[in-house]
Amino acid sequence: MRGKALLSAAAESRGKRRILAGVSIETQGRAEELWRAVRFLWYFLCRADKESTMGIPLSETMQDLFQKLLKAIGEDPKRKELLKTPKRASEAFQFLTKGYDEDLKTIVNGALFPSETDGMVIVTDIECYSLCEHHLLPFIGKVHVGYVPNKHIIGLSKIPRIIDMFARRLQTQERLTQQICDALESVLKPKGIAVVCEAEHLCMMMRGVEKQHSKAITSCVKGLIKKDEKTREEFLRLIGR
Ligand code: ZN
Repeated sequence: MRGKALLSAAAESRGKRRILAGVSIETQGRAEELWRAVRFLWYFLCRADKESTMGIPLSETMQDLFQKLLKAIGEDPKRKELLKTPKRASEAFQFLTKGYDEDLKTIVNGALFPSETDGMVIVTDIECYSLCEHHLLPFIGKVHVGYVPNKHIIGLSKIPRIIDMFARRLQTQERLTQQICDALESVLKPKGIAVVCEAEHLCMMMRGVEKQHSKAITSCVKGLIKKDEKTREEFLRLIGR
């Protein structure tokens, strides 16, 4: 009898432990989920601190997301060939959006020089790779920049770097063109400035209307190049339009 009582007490106690363990695992699961959500939000609020926010690298969160994405499209993230894909994709995505962490002042870094002429400065066919903010697909093209100096000229290599700063973000081509123009205008205070961007959008080529040969052209023109017909014609001729 005593033995039976002991056995049933032991079974009851095991049962309680199981229930307790069950509750505890469930609670832990919820707490973990909540904690993950808080961390995820925190990463994006503290994007600048990419390497380590609350002790966990941003890339780790991105890797989680890419792993979920692989599952969502019906792939098996544990497939041998895909094991490193979340890591690679996360690194690629961080590179493609690194413009968020750059700023104009650091890029220009004082590379302004006195202008000895008021002749137009043109840089054409600057390669440009960006991501469309509607589909997260690339748009690829060229940017042409021209300005009529006022007092300063800018180091030529700075122009592509400024373009990249804005292009390495989620963009629309229209806004990208405007931002490049505004940034150069704020730095140079030129007599006139023009930025023309021509690009092909993979969201139009690979999906949707599936048009392979259409190009979108956007422009932003200010000051003398806008007002003076001859100056505008000179700009268009020099960029080969
Ligand atoms: Zn798009």
